[in-house]
Amino acid sequence: MGNRLNGKVAIVTGGNRGIGLAIAERLADEDAVVAVGDLLDRRSAEAGKPGKVSFLPLDVTDEASIRAFVDEVLERFGRIDILVNNAGMVIHKSIDDQTAEDWDKLMAVNLRGPFLMAKYVVPEMRRVGSGTIVNIGSVEGYMVNPWHTAYAATKAGVHGLTLGLAVDLGPDGIRCNTVCPGWIDTDLNRAYVEMHPDRSLIERELSYLHPAGRIGAPKEIANAVLWLVSDESSFVSGEMISVDGARTKKIPLPAVLDEEYRSKLTEKQA
Ligand code: NDP
Repeated sequence: MGNRLNGKVAIVTGGNRGIGLAIAERLADEDAVVAVGDLLDRRSAEAGKPGKVSFLPLDVTDEASIRAFVDEVLERFGRIDILVNNAGMVIHKSIDDQTAEDWDKLMAVNLRGPFLMAKYVVPEMRRVGSGTIVNIGSVEGYMVNPWHTAYAATKAGVHGLTLGLAVDLGPDGIRCNTVCPGWIDTDLNRAYVEMHPDRSLIERELSYLHPAGRIGAPKEIANAVLWLVSDESSFVSGEMISVDGARTKKIPLPAVLDEEYRSKLTEKQA
């Protein structure tokens, strides 16, 4: 808790649950006025007060909805300093089963959405003379789980978008970075875990993949986002920052050769 974002107005897309909700709450903890845009409409009487989260309807696949959302944020709160492009979805299908509609839907939510959000928010940041954009990418922008071809393509695209926005908008005093979450405990991948009947086995095996010995929590992504939108990161732009308990830094070994390391992680969990 603090007031690092006092006087700032922040937008968080897809903040109805999971990582987005944790980000919205963390930014509000630091006194930002936070406007969450999500498919649901949960307007509240507290809207617009520092340290409060307001929920407004937004479909990031729909350009008219984005324009209406940005207009409403400006009308209610007067300015926009921070944009967090978090809304996202995953489709878990082989290339054989995946349809062109699946591909288009993923692109529309995960990549076209962040592009259009930036397009409509940036003029307001230029008017104020500064701003920060944080995209939620993924470690799947660098590596990929099986049957995530389209998802990984969207996240690699988000990383490219980040580079382009950082370069194009730097002269306007606008920074753009991406947080790349590893395995975070949310609905998005809970369904993936539940495809297997033995959840505790999956959780144990997942923890072995992480040098940190566990999967991550939404608030750990929110803390990284807070740093990136605050003045503490004022010379950081165009970066992809993984928050993944070092999962992507460990070269996988066959389980039989990894026993000593696994037993250390098991001791830590006990
Ligand atoms: P969740 O599925 O828990 O939440 C996604 C949120 O996005 C929901 O609130 C959902 O709304 C919203 N949303 C979906 N489509 C739209 C849309 N068209 N317009 C507006 N809002 C929309 O996901 P996570 O919290 O896990 O993921 C958040 C981000 O983090 C995503 O970009 C994801 O790709 C990324 N990520 C997550 C990882 C993880 O391990 N969880 C790992 C790497 C990246 P509603 O509630 O109404 O459905």
